[in-house]
Amino acid sequence: MNEFDEKIGGVITAEGIDTLQVNVGLACNQACTHCHLNCSPARQEAMSWETMKRVIALADSIKPALVDITGGAPELNVHLKDFVTTLCEAGHRVLVRTNLTAMTEPGLTDYPDFFAGNGVDLVASMPCYLEENVASMRGDRCFPASIAVLKKLNALGYGEGGHLSLDLVFNPAVGMSLPPCQAALEKDYKREMKERYDIVFNRLLTITNVPVGRSLDSLRESGKDRQYLELLASSFNPATVDGLMCRHQVNIGWDGRLYDCDFNQALDLGVSRMAPGHIDEFDLDLMVHRRVITGPHCFACTAGAGSSCGGAIEG
Ligand code: SF4
Ligand code: SF4
Repeated sequence: MNEFDEKIGGVITAEGIDTLQVNVGLACNQACTHCHLNCSPARQEAMSWETMKRVIALADSIKPALVDITGGAPELNVHLKDFVTTLCEAGHRVLVRTNLTAMTEPGLTDYPDFFAGNGVDLVASMPCYLEENVASMRGDRCFPASIAVLKKLNALGYGEGGHLSLDLVFNPAVGMSLPPCQAALEKDYKREMKERYDIVFNRLLTITNVPVGRSLDSLRESGKDRQYLELLASSFNPATVDGLMCRHQVNIGWDGRLYDCDFNQALDLGVSRMAPGHIDEFDLDLMVHRRVITGPHCFACTAGAGSSCGGAIEG
């Protein structure tokens, strides 16, 4: 048993697969300081159409409540539209995690209309409502481009009062802090985004930085990696354990390999040997009862109010 398992008093086992999370590639038009998968414009890894067809067949077979598409910037995968269209036509609820700015790149500017036309839920990165803070994490051109895309999405019916779901994601700058209270921050975000930019959205999701990939590199460079891990461990909240996302999902990598979550993917920690590790050999019975592979990074999910791709676990 590792330190995390000892803390929770045993191993974590999965309880079902509500969400099929699909990472369609590691290429991104940005290279953020906190990126756990080291994504950037230099990355070439992309899910093939053959693998996407296997994901579609799997979704048709196990009927998850949600197909959650992530990357990289998913829009950079040339097969994304065919993938989304096929899933939506089959009746699956589809969510795409977007960095917004990808939709301003040449050849990708029709994505807001495409997503709206297919009723896709969007979860968009917006680490602050202040331009200078976003620029320090994601680069200078990110903020104005993100605002322009959010306005377009609002005009298409995304956000509060509209018919399409648009959630924003907050994560703290890499350093020694956990996210603040999600509900309180959501109130601030809603007020500031409306007053400053006339933008509306549905929910704010606060996500704790997980110390892997460039997030860990940044902590090491500032000599704070050990301190940050100690902060996460000392902020352990047992009430978050039942809601850990790895208990209710499986994550599929761009090459079809299976993981408990995107963070385990970043660490190359495939699913337990209790279950086949590739979509070609997917076994639902073994997968739903698998033991989850954990490590010190898991304390990021149980610190404070807890953290998942759906935001805080508590409250
Ligand atoms: S955090 Fe998101 S937007 Fe930033 S480099 Fe990684 S995948 Fe791209
Ligand atoms: S990092 Fe992944 S495996 Fe670990 S607790 Fe969080 S979701 Fe579960």
